[in-house]
Amino acid sequence: METAKKDIRALTKEQLREFFVNNGDQAFRGNQVYEWLWNKAAYTFEDMTNISKETRQMLEENFVINHIKVDQMQRSNDGTIKNAVRLHDGLIVESVLIPTAKRTTACVSSQVGCSLDCKFCATARLKRMRNLNPDEIFDQVVAIDRESRLYFDRPLSNIVFMGMGEPLMNYNNVLKAIDKITSPEGLGMSPKRIVVSTSGVPKMIKKMADDEVKFGLAVSLHSAIDEVRTSIMPFNATFPLKDLREALEYWYSKTKNTITYEYVVWDGINDTKNDADALIQFCKFAPSKVNLIEYNPIDDGEFQQANSQALDMYISMLEKNNITVTVRRSRGKDIDAACGQLANKS
Ligand code: SF4
Repeated sequence: METAKKDIRALTKEQLREFFVNNGDQAFRGNQVYEWLWNKAAYTFEDMTNISKETRQMLEENFVINHIKVDQMQRSNDGTIKNAVRLHDGLIVESVLIPTAKRTTACVSSQVGCSLDCKFCATARLKRMRNLNPDEIFDQVVAIDRESRLYFDRPLSNIVFMGMGEPLMNYNNVLKAIDKITSPEGLGMSPKRIVVSTSGVPKMIKKMADDEVKFGLAVSLHSAIDEVRTSIMPFNATFPLKDLREALEYWYSKTKNTITYEYVVWDGINDTKNDADALIQFCKFAPSKVNLIEYNPIDDGEFQQANSQALDMYISMLEKNNITVTVRRSRGKDIDAACGQLANKS
């Protein structure tokens, strides 16, 4: 039965080599197949053209390649592309291609739904169904790279883990996927072009530092005042800012990598001078920069972007304190592909 077969991409290179030796072939055949799977991102065994027909048949009899399928692709007026991605068990996640003049960025999902309950986020309403496997994360990147080459005539240049789910709650699989994306035997992308964005899980930030990861770290901060942050990101009651601060200081001491704070300014929630002051103090704990992100209201409209005076106040206060600040316009709003909007609505 098809479903009883193992996904070949769950095997390490060593296990693939062993498989071939145990089946009367040579170990290097495992290397060839591994290259097809992770470097050439083969969809089927048929694609493996330098492998003999008999061997491909033998692989077919023993394994499957549970490749994702892009069920629906939507294109925004601004060029952004949103993929609704069907997984082998029928569940769906979303990933987004964001083109700018010089870059193509993939925003990928790490979980189906999310176990955290950020009040401003559409994904939070889906609840967490399961973690994505490393290959399911890898496949989202490959699909977007192919779209980037097709529609923009250039390869994918950057990846952000900012789609559905909290990547640090699926840490091992995210790391395995990044390994395949960055290793020369995989896609060979530089880890410097990858950013993992977390809502801030202190223990896991410390673990990343201990693991000496080479990719960047962004934290969805949104408030540096516990009371306010807990009201919009309830898990902050469990992981308060002092724990987050300690973890980020640890991260910087080990990696010397600047931290990016993602920050939305909402009307009536975090739009006062007091809020901006707290952010500035928080930024001083470890070298950091701030991305002020434009917000896209989700259905009930409870959260609304603050007015431009509030944004200008933040910008001028941050600049006066020599903290780099960038205003990030949201992309793909018309197809619900913008930050916080991913909710499998298509
Ligand atoms: S913002 Fe991120 S961590 Fe928070 S609920 Fe949405 S997907 Fe989960």
